[in-house]
Amino acid sequence: MSLDPVPPGARLPLADEDAAPPPGVPEGKKQLVKETKALVKRIEELQRALYAENTRALLVVLQGRDAAGKDGTLRRVFGPIDPQGCRVTSFKRPTPLELSHDYLWRIHVAAPPRGVIGLFNRSHYEDVLVVRVHGLVPEPVWQQRYDQINAFERMLTENGTTVLKFFLHISREEQAERLRARLANPAKNWKFDEGDLGERKRWDAYTEAYRDALARCSTPHAPWFVVPADHKRTRNYLVASTVAAMLDRMAPKYPRADPAVLGLAKEIA
Ligand code: AMP
Ligand code: MG
Repeated sequence: MSLDPVPPGARLPLADEDAAPPPGVPEGKKQLVKETKALVKRIEELQRALYAENTRALLVVLQGRDAAGKDGTLRRVFGPIDPQGCRVTSFKRPTPLELSHDYLWRIHVAAPPRGVIGLFNRSHYEDVLVVRVHGLVPEPVWQQRYDQINAFERMLTENGTTVLKFFLHISREEQAERLRARLANPAKNWKFDEGDLGERKRWDAYTEAYRDALARCSTPHAPWFVVPADHKRTRNYLVASTVAAMLDRMAPKYPRADPAVLGLAKEIA
């Protein structure tokens, strides 16, 4: 079951209950794991053909609140992919150099080259999310960005890059549990940022900002998908299934060697 794109212009409630596993997802841990494994294998196979074909790229954008599962999704869904065939970029607070350019500058250089799956852990959407919520630029500046982002993504798609954007949607309670777990587990402490608590207090402001980003930037050429992400295995299954469906539609093909080249086999001593 792959996800449906957010209809352009739709302002979704993004309520806590929307973060629970939806109907239609395979039931039971065993089945879910089995089907996800098959989907990941399919992504891995199609990625190899995409790389060999070397004409098109796929860009997968992952957005979500702190502890929504962006890192886990990268590990579980894209971990088995040939490292040469994918490129992960995690966008942090912009550096002084990045800030001296327009906000899309650092994004464009990180866009995947032909044959590659680009994976964005956060993205240019931070420039209408954290930047808007914290008032890091005046409202007229961030207001213009929705149209600029749509034009930028259109340009990417017109030049051979398919764009898929996932919002990993968790509930307030699930985030609280995961943040507590970060403090309780020595291997996860490092992920806890004191700033995360301040962000959590701005929950409703972020919800508003996400509603606008999804409504204004889910387009036929670069759709947004809302992933109910309270349950990790369901989240992995849904992302894997949606990415596999897109790669199936792209149907990358291995380039065929020239018959003259194939004939050289007998000359290999
Ligand atoms: P993490 O994903 O936990 O590594 O944290 C990265 C941090 O960088 C988050 O707090 C983001 O909100 C922040 N960040 C990413 N992009 C931007 C941006 N364009 N402007 C301001 N902060 C950003
Ligand atoms: Mg963090």
